[in-house]
Amino acid sequence: MNLIFFGPPGGGKGTQARLLAARRGLPQVATGDILREAGAAGTPLGREARRYMDTGDLVPDAVMIGLMQERLARPDVRAGFVLDGFPRTLPQAEALEAVLAAMERRIDRAVEFRVGEETVIRRLGGRRVCQAAGHISHVEFAPPRVEGICDVDGSPLLQREDDRPEVIRRRMEVYRNEIPPVLDFYRVRALLVALDAEGDEEAVYARLEETLARP
Ligand code: AMP
Repeated sequence: MNLIFFGPPGGGKGTQARLLAARRGLPQVATGDILREAGAAGTPLGREARRYMDTGDLVPDAVMIGLMQERLARPDVRAGFVLDGFPRTLPQAEALEAVLAAMERRIDRAVEFRVGEETVIRRLGGRRVCQAAGHISHVEFAPPRVEGICDVDGSPLLQREDDRPEVIRRRMEVYRNEIPPVLDFYRVRALLVALDAEGDEEAVYARLEETLARP
């Protein structure tokens, strides 16, 4: 199954994509994670991307499309994938369709995660990410056993640069401005489904499975 997850920052796309990967073996392709890894490694791509990410703006389409083309050519996504964070603009959606068509593949479903603004702010404001491997915890919803330390690998937990309130506001504005034509792109192809993404991760996961099981 080839899936796309859409949703505002803090909508829970990444959390649900990770659950699907663990439970169904469907690999998560998260462009934000790929860019952060490149940033941490200090590659030219990472350095360029950082300039946009730190202010909550989108990395240019040409960069993102090239990156995705390369990623989708790798063998681990041959049997299916969940795109988390791509496409975010209409040119990205069009390019994705062309890349997949060249491989005789297509998107099976695009899921729009719907959550209120208050939920987004609570989720992002409390989100912490471990320095070593990006494991995610939350000060309120999933607190680590020892404050500030990752349960999985013992490395320090940090706040993402772009989870600061002023950057959150910018990311949400970018989402609201850019995403309507992208959603329309999948709506006219009858691929778009809405998901109520309020509530804890197991409740959302149960609704997601239901949504995916529908013909
Ligand atoms: P995320 O982890 O999905 O919230 O993405 C973090 C940041 O990475 C975004 O705010 C953008 O700056 C950048 N980014 C991730 N995916 C894309 C994309 N498809 N197009 C442009 N920028 C992106």
